[in-house]
Amino acid sequence: MTRGRGRPAQFTTEVREEFLRLVRRGDRLGVAAATVGVSVNVPTRHARKDPAFAAALETARRKGKDARTPHGEYRYNHLECRCPICTTAATAARTARRHDSDYAVGGQVHNLDASRESPTPFSLPSPSPGPTPVAA
Ligand SMILES: [Zn+2]
Repeated sequence: MTRGRGRPAQFTTEVREEFLRLVRRGDRLGVAAATVGVSVNVPTRHARKDPAFAAALETARRKGKDARTPHGEYRYNHLECRCPICTTAATAARTARRHDSDYAVGGQVHNLDASRESPTPFSLPSPSPGPTPVAA
């Protein structure tokens, strides 16, 4: 006995799940399809007939796009990545903005020493003849 249709059921539930997992992880559709062993047009064709799969694929693609975003400040701010790379980048960017004199901190005012005419909130770079020996 042969199957009713000539083609084997290649895009099974397991294959679909694995395909979606790869897409979510950031693989391009062609790469994900090749990895699970189907032609790139198989998932696309399947999505046309299966609205649930189409929705899942759309979500997976969105997540995949996020997954391809390089780690850094953008990822920290918009994708809520809290890995060391993103956290460090976001902290550095925030610190840089805080030191920018044009950056107004809304509401929060530090009580600076009013007796000083023009306080310098951070040390300015000073010319140095060479490496400063570490005090014993
Ligand atoms: Zn990150």
